[in-house]
Amino acid sequence: MFNTKYYQLGTAPSVIRKLFAYGLEQAKIVGEENVYDYSLGNPSIPSPAKVNQSIHKIVDDVEPLKLHGYSMAPGFDDARAAVAESLSRRFDMDLNAGNLFFTCGAAPAFVAVCKALAALDNSEIIAIAPFFPEYRVFVEESGAIFKVAPADKENFQIDIDGVSAILSSRTQAVIINSPNNPSGAVYTEETLRELAGLLRAKSKEYGHQIYIISDEPYRELVYGDARVPFVPHIYENSIICYSFSKSLSIPGERIGYVCIPDRCADAQALYAAVAGASRAIGHVCSPTLMQRVIQECADEMPDLEAYDQNRRLIYSALTKMGYECVRPDGAFYMFVKAPNGDANRFSEKAMKDFNLLVVPGEGFGCPDYFRLSYCVDHEMIKRSLPAFQAMIDAYK
Ligand code: PLP
Repeated sequence: MFNTKYYQLGTAPSVIRKLFAYGLEQAKIVGEENVYDYSLGNPSIPSPAKVNQSIHKIVDDVEPLKLHGYSMAPGFDDARAAVAESLSRRFDMDLNAGNLFFTCGAAPAFVAVCKALAALDNSEIIAIAPFFPEYRVFVEESGAIFKVAPADKENFQIDIDGVSAILSSRTQAVIINSPNNPSGAVYTEETLRELAGLLRAKSKEYGHQIYIISDEPYRELVYGDARVPFVPHIYENSIICYSFSKSLSIPGERIGYVCIPDRCADAQALYAAVAGASRAIGHVCSPTLMQRVIQECADEMPDLEAYDQNRRLIYSALTKMGYECVRPDGAFYMFVKAPNGDANRFSEKAMKDFNLLVVPGEGFGCPDYFRLSYCVDHEMIKRSLPAFQAMIDAYK
């Protein structure tokens, strides 16, 4: 006997995995250079030099038993203090180690926060389309009901009326993710202020706080004039889930944190609930070598030039061909409207006819769009352009 819910989750087909596996197989047949894989969000720029230097230094300098030992569940005090100090300086906050709980990346941070917030049997947590598909799994695992606010397809900001229409007295939290996966949109300060106003009014009406869960693995990946507002400045009841996976190109090292600023309602109790929820999902501590690396590298920033070149090339080439998309200002994704509105069919045809691998938007809450991850080799983008052209021509 085993749990059928988890069996289904473990065997449910993943479109991204299917595309990636297809690409690997096709590469053996037609050659790697003839497969155009835009499926995965794996960083394609090297980590800042200080990351590897710190790893070497720490491995060489720290006593072996201390190096590989456990830390307390929230992480080393001095490592958390270093991150708190960096955030406080950069974002004009007053954070300390006690506001931070290190996790094994943003995903477990997010799961712990959802579990901590799912206070009632029928608690609701709202995501805004388009959204990271794993949110559905994580929210439902917490016992809460997952609700989706419709996309603002004009510019992939937030459809405030759409959020308002699905808020209820059972709403515990609204998830925001900016810069956004899959659209690359960066929510403006104005958008966030409107959302904050709505949530304040509704919190008052319902007599309990509605939190924002701000999932920010792409906070440092922003281009041109776009700026990522620091959400706790705009809405006091904001909880941050952060990851160093994308900003330092270390997704396999599994390090991130939950940040609950003091200004957040019931901050201390919430922190304790996050600690308890983490304990319940088997968190012992996040990798201690990585905690020490982060302590040294809290201020390190990615060199975004390569992503930015990819972004400019793919956006200008595709829009010239006639594809419709909102210019991405952050992350390393672009969300493109399928020419006939059916992204499943577009993705299938692109894969079969051209070895062009794009992710259909159904799982992101927008079935008429497909996602491109442009964290790829620049030359691959150039080689793939005739395939995009042939695809749009096929629909004319
Ligand atoms: N949230 C979003 C929006 C993501 O895109 C990802 C990963 O791609 C995650 C969370 C999970 O990140 P991590 O690798 O830190 O668990």
